[in-house]
Amino acid sequence: MQTEKKYDVDVLVCGGGVAGAAAAIASARLGARTMLVEGRESLGGMCTNGYITGIAGLVEGLSEEWIDRLVAKGAANKRPHLPLVEPEVGKLELEQMVLQAGCRILYGVHVTDCVVEDERIAKVMAHSHGGPIEISAKVFVDCTGDADLAYAAGVPCEVGNAEFFGLNQGVTMGFRLSYVNVKKYWAAEEAFQKTQSLETRKQLVVAKEYEAIENGDLPYLIVPGLLVYPVPNTSLECGDVTLDATQTGYCRNDNAEDRTRQIVDQRRQVLELFHKFLSKYVPGFEDCVVTSVASMNGVRDSRRIVGEYVFTDADMAGGAKFDDCVVRNPEFFDAHHPTCAEFVAVRHVHVREPSGSAVCRPSRDDYNYKMHPYVVPGGYEARTNPRDWAELPYRSLVATKVVNLLAAGRNVSAEFHALGTIRVIAGSMSMGQAAGTAAAMCVKEKIDPRNLDGVRVRDALIEQGVPLDKAPGGHWEMLRNMPGRIDVASADFAVIVNDEGQSHLF
Ligand SMILES: Cc1cc2nc3c(=O)[nH]c(=O)nc-3n(C[C@H](O)[C@H](O)[C@H](O)COP(=O)(O)OP(=O)(O)OC[C@H]3O[C@@H](n4cnc5c(N)ncnc54)[C@H](O)[C@@H]3O)c2cc1C
Repeated sequence: MQTEKKYDVDVLVCGGGVAGAAAAIASARLGARTMLVEGRESLGGMCTNGYITGIAGLVEGLSEEWIDRLVAKGAANKRPHLPLVEPEVGKLELEQMVLQAGCRILYGVHVTDCVVEDERIAKVMAHSHGGPIEISAKVFVDCTGDADLAYAAGVPCEVGNAEFFGLNQGVTMGFRLSYVNVKKYWAAEEAFQKTQSLETRKQLVVAKEYEAIENGDLPYLIVPGLLVYPVPNTSLECGDVTLDATQTGYCRNDNAEDRTRQIVDQRRQVLELFHKFLSKYVPGFEDCVVTSVASMNGVRDSRRIVGEYVFTDADMAGGAKFDDCVVRNPEFFDAHHPTCAEFVAVRHVHVREPSGSAVCRPSRDDYNYKMHPYVVPGGYEARTNPRDWAELPYRSLVATKVVNLLAAGRNVSAEFHALGTIRVIAGSMSMGQAAGTAAAMCVKEKIDPRNLDGVRVRDALIEQGVPLDKAPGGHWEMLRNMPGRIDVASADFAVIVNDEGQSHLF
């Protein structure tokens, strides 16, 4: 097919999820001629089109600006932790921010390949409904989530980890329900938690599922743990929620057939939950109806680029700090279990020696075949310390092999578990902001991302109002100052426990 159209820009951002949108805004605001290409027809990716509407991570910089703009429109609830966004207004507002920054958007344009000359990406080839198009740029930013551009450019990529033989995290498809009494659900959950011990506690919904399985209403445990995000601007007594409830295991997210299997599997799970479980068993969900199923499958991870620095699981566990820090992450490990439907996530990694602020205990060969189905790694189990945070260096955004490619969002250069936590929405937006800032600086100074000093990117972000030079405030400061001992609780969390035996998580 003949090339339909050719474009030439300074910075091309591929993929318009939260990372790509932030990269495009940051780059365009610094004066670079920026283009954002997105395969679908709206921005926000997993957050808006995947119905993941609770924003985890450190909300600062562009993520905070986005949420503040949504609050002004009644479309966000800025809670101290996990602020909520309304997904439809969320994507429209993100689009406004990108366009107001002066960035050109092309929707329905799917990047398929690229031409590399002398270790430099010269142009990207993409499919559009009008026919094939080509876009040349000085700097490229891969925010496709799957590292599509990096992979096409021959950049080494990793998938999964050694323990799980290349399997990705479990996949979860979001959906939206109406007529839910969230207050009633929260009250029932709180009352149920009072009957649970720190070691064995589970969510009410999981206990109810076992009841439903016993009654023959559910075929197997579908929901390892329910994430219920009330939709802002709807009633807490009879309103909308987005739900993270399904889970499909044994996923290979760089394979089209397997991704199709997951989609079909999860849609079936949504049907099972809706018709046989939620209204019959879960308080507050008696009158619920499904109003929408996410148009984007809930793929948590896929390919990760191998960059100039691979952010390690141990870095995340120990709260590593870097001079060229561009993103900070105080959240816990959140790699959803690749094989076991009973665990939400693996919240520990294995390290040879304890380091930094990690919460460590010797690895237990306790025949826990569900958590570690193939091998129990040795050394120490390490969990993130709820009173600390880890820093991601600029070098983790810089691709190897080609000189003019940056990556941001869930395809960044990180080990499996480290990615499992840094990829949260605020973290992905911060990566995007850093990558877009770096890309524009490179264009202005006529250098390649590899030769840009990351400390200068950090300084530029501080100038933009991202407080990288201060300890995280708000909710995180509250946790740092909370009295209590740190213990390991059920569901694999390291938690702060007070004198009454209550943890900070429930
Ligand atoms: C089930 C689930 C639950 C989660 N829960 C939370 C949570 O509670 N809180 C939280 O903060 N985070 C959560 N996360 C993580 C978070 O949602 C994602 O990691 C984050 O949104 C990723 O953003 P991104 O921009 O990197 O990627 P994506 O959102 O995947 O965006 C990638 C974009 O690129 C486009 N694209 C892909 N390939 C191409 C191509 N070749 N050409 C052009 N465009 C392309 C896609 O259409 C998409 O718009 C969850 C994730 C999942 C899946």
